[in-house]
Amino acid sequence: MHPLLKPALRRGWHDLNTVQFGVTPAHAVVLGPVDTATGSFLTLLDGTRGVPLLRDEARRMGLPDGHVDALLDRLADAGLLDDATGGGPGADTLRRRTEVMDRLRPDHAALTVTTSEPGEGMKRLTARHAMRVQVRGAGRVGAVIASVLAAAGVGHVDVRDGGCVAPWDVAPGGQPTEAVGERREVSARRVVRAVAPLRPPRPDRRRSASRLTDPEQGEPALSLVIVAPRDGLAVRSPDPSAVEDLMAAGIPHLYAGVVEATGVVGPLVLPGGTGCAHCLLLGRTDRDPTWPRLLAQWGSGRTARQVQACDVALATAVAGLAAAHALAFLDGELPSSTGARWEASAPGLDWHARPVWPHSECPCGAGEGGNGQETPVEEEPHDTMAG
Ligand SMILES: [Zn+2]
Repeated sequence: MHPLLKPALRRGWHDLNTVQFGVTPAHAVVLGPVDTATGSFLTLLDGTRGVPLLRDEARRMGLPDGHVDALLDRLADAGLLDDATGGGPGADTLRRRTEVMDRLRPDHAALTVTTSEPGEGMKRLTARHAMRVQVRGAGRVGAVIASVLAAAGVGHVDVRDGGCVAPWDVAPGGQPTEAVGERREVSARRVVRAVAPLRPPRPDRRRSASRLTDPEQGEPALSLVIVAPRDGLAVRSPDPSAVEDLMAAGIPHLYAGVVEATGVVGPLVLPGGTGCAHCLLLGRTDRDPTWPRLLAQWGSGRTARQVQACDVALATAVAGLAAAHALAFLDGELPSSTGARWEASAPGLDWHARPVWPHSECPCGAGEGGNGQETPVEEEPHDTMAG
């Protein structure tokens, strides 16, 4: 272990004996009292020295025996310590690829802030490289999500969509202008490859029989699917039949899209564990029996074929937030979109979350034994026409 004080956390001394690491309340830690000799010793924790050398240096500085080990324990407990050599064998390989690491350095630094174990940030960054994510939809939201995930180091990002790139699909970070007229899938996959810091690992045929891999392709099983259709209605009021395959296979999926002038991120569905598209539909229909009739009208006829309203800034915000939630999940956390969805409507753009409760009659099983249907899922517009 080569201990280093997490460089991502800015250091500030309140007084001679009290030091604060980090700026924001979410991750800042105040350490004290720290005597002057220890304060000087902290500057040696830059990842260039192993623990035996640090003990020698401490002895030279007149610090008592055992002080270094106690200090390292204290710093590690406070989540302030990283290990410049940690993260496992995969991390060592990645560290040697300096051109790749230079691309991912800010992302790695962010992971050191959100994790507490020394070396954990590097371990998670390495794990992303082996993961496979599918993005369903390659319009203004989907294509951007796919490229952001690839840029963040997710090794396999697969994009699915039909048809050809329309001029209005073009967005910064997503479908480029020159792709207009080209097949959406083909273009989106090229965008993904162009921003990926590292080529995806080659499929390992020896592992293809393993439970963790897709036997068809010898690739890792899907860790997550992002449902980001070009028509945001399919996110705001998702059709359960569109994700039947994911529910059956138990694959977590996250919704993201823009409908009219409202951005939606979530829910992240953990099949059988949290409220799903079918739960949402059942809950909504409980409260408004005319809901299916409205859905049928919204989803058919002339409006469905028109170019949908989609503010490019809102679409970009939705894509960024959805990608961040996806990464948190891939990194082993449960983001706040788990069983909930975030919405923001222009022009106020006040993001707020509402729970998506499991429904007791949903075949997904998330609501079994619960009373989810008795709790309002969300507020819908009031019936102002009735007077
Ligand atoms: Zn359900």
